Amino acid sequence: MRLFTTPDAMRAWSHDQRRGGHRVAVVPTMGALHAGHLALVEAALQRADRVIVTIFVNSLQFNLSNDFDSYPRPIDDDLSACERAGVDAVYAPTAAAMYSSEFQTYVEPGELADRLEGPLRPGHFRGVTTVVTKLLGATTPDLALFGQKDFQQLAIIRRMVTDLDLGVEIVGVPIIREPDGLASSSRNVRLSPDDRVGAVVLSQALTAAASAFLEGERSADSVMATVVSLIKTEPRASLEYVAVVDATTLQPVTRIESPAVVLLAGWFGDVRLIDNCVLGDNGHC
Ligand code: AMP
Repeated sequence: MRLFTTPDAMRAWSHDQRRGGHRVAVVPTMGALHAGHLALVEAALQRADRVIVTIFVNSLQFNLSNDFDSYPRPIDDDLSACERAGVDAVYAPTAAAMYSSEFQTYVEPGELADRLEGPLRPGHFRGVTTVVTKLLGATTPDLALFGQKDFQQLAIIRRMVTDLDLGVEIVGVPIIREPDGLASSSRNVRLSPDDRVGAVVLSQALTAAASAFLEGERSADSVMATVVSLIKTEPRASLEYVAVVDATTLQPVTRIESPAVVLLAGWFGDVRLIDNCVLGDNGHC
């Protein structure tokens, strides 16, 4: 497995692979790799001849400095996990290689970034679109894979790649969950043992919403009320928002007719978790 830390070295390798006729996939991550990231790698290995994982904790997308400082960075474990998973190259640039002191160019997302997570995390999506553009520029892939766990992020990246003619195929991968249902996340390791137990309420609430939909409920207010009442049963949880939106436009819906998704964010102590569930015909998330 190759390890690159500068965009030029990364790009040269990727160009060589593509010139050799190989299809190149990239999986952008912030490290602290877990089963969710490995599912993206697995999906990449199925679709491409060469798989690059990028590992970079992007300061630009953190709106809270405490969250950035406490973000886990187990780089040696991450490199071993990539090696074991069959990754061909890791791109782990330094902060200085990504953002020089002269850095001044940003990618500004549009209205998809103005709702849900956007107003609650000022600058977050601008940080994401900027870093993803840079990572695509350094890795020059045929395709890039992102998790549906970050549903709004995936929609914004799809829009950006279309709007800016980046010519990269974007693949969305379903959410991977822990055995109890909690969505796998690098932030889960920061939960206290009691909060880790209580955090299962998020996926339970989404599953209750999915069941209500399956049983014929089409009122977004009723679906949201189901989520709120379930989360209230867990005193350790503090719900920041729940929304039912159109799965493509992310506009709120009142009646659930076209494909819709329930999204939420909640706090356990100082750890913020997000989760979502596409309302479909299987009744679970
Ligand atoms: P992160 O390292 O949190 O920036 O995540 C890197 C990529 O992994 C993003 O595309 C995430 O959506 C995806 N991801 C994170 N957690 C999960 C999960 N539980 N299931 C599927 N994809 C995930």
